[in-house]
Amino acid sequence: MPVNLLDFDAKGMEAWFAGLGEKPFRARQVLAWIHKRGAGEFAAMTDLAKDLRAKLEAKASIGLPEIVGDSTAADDTRKWLLKVDGANAVEAVFIPEAGRGTLCVSSQAGCTLDCAFCSTGKQGFNRNLTTAEIIGQLWLAEKLLGERTNAGSRARQGRHVSNVVFMGMGEPLLNLDAVIPALRLMLEDNAYGLSRRRVTVSTSGVIPGMDRLAAECPVALAVSLHAPNDALRDRLVPINRKYPIAQLLAACNRYLVHAPRDFITFEYVMLDGVNDSPTHARELVDIAARVRCKFNLIPFNPFQAVQGLGLHRSPQERIRRFAEVLQRAGLTTTTRKTRGEGIDAACGQLAGEVQDRTRRRGIPITEVRA
Ligand code: SF4
Repeated sequence: MPVNLLDFDAKGMEAWFAGLGEKPFRARQVLAWIHKRGAGEFAAMTDLAKDLRAKLEAKASIGLPEIVGDSTAADDTRKWLLKVDGANAVEAVFIPEAGRGTLCVSSQAGCTLDCAFCSTGKQGFNRNLTTAEIIGQLWLAEKLLGERTNAGSRARQGRHVSNVVFMGMGEPLLNLDAVIPALRLMLEDNAYGLSRRRVTVSTSGVIPGMDRLAAECPVALAVSLHAPNDALRDRLVPINRKYPIAQLLAACNRYLVHAPRDFITFEYVMLDGVNDSPTHARELVDIAARVRCKFNLIPFNPFQAVQGLGLHRSPQERIRRFAEVLQRAGLTTTTRKTRGEGIDAACGQLAGEVQDRTRRRGIPITEVRA
């Protein structure tokens, strides 16, 4: 079985090349060919010696997920459905905005955590993605967005990836063995060269994972808070029963020791009549006094209203008033624009459709077309 070179960060690549009897600079050359210059085959690596290319052909591969769906919403949000094996597909979403392009990547096929408002969580958990399957989402996005140049220079304007957020399917901190090498590739100058602050890992609050990420690769951290007290958060984000808010805030503060000029971004999905009252907002102000943070309010994407689970998006005026309470207390608060609704690419909707089709109707993933 050939080794998939997309599974290696820079150190891993050097170690594997050392095993082949090759010098570290060869590993760096190949890493740059794959990630900086977008080479998908060894034949394209024209400055490698022929015998090395032959060795690579025999022992290695550049194995990418297969694109089985590619759809673009009216607002230019683009979603790819990527088959990672015979039974699983994950999604990646590109969100273009003025001056930046954000790629939302998945880290697991499904999720174990079952947050009350989340489509992915409702589909159950299939498996962790590999490093290759995670970084492959960025590799493919760069290629498909057509912004990579053969000279290896990457423009920083127009439609290409300037930011990555781990907010697709899965809880990234439950898959850190694969996520950390992928993060290192994103930050690596010889690969994607993104700055630490342009890569955000979003967690529902897996505290041991937060501590490990802080120690090994402290990128920007977003925490899916969604409720200002334990009683409500236990219901909305069940992992809160294991890691309640006080422990979560302590973990946030430990994280910030490793990222001293950062903030924690608290994500807060606005659910009509559930967590959106002025009292809830004032409770958040108390939380904010305990950690350096900002808030991102997310209008709920009401896919579950259809499924009868009784959750609905807060009215716009209530969201505005909620934000006002936070802002009056001096807290940086943004309200996320809802993007990609026409293609089920908004927060909490990733892969719901795919998993439903593959499981309930037994249609092979290859037949799913956006
Ligand atoms: S919100 Fe995130 S952690 Fe919660 S079930 Fe969905 S994918 Fe998992």
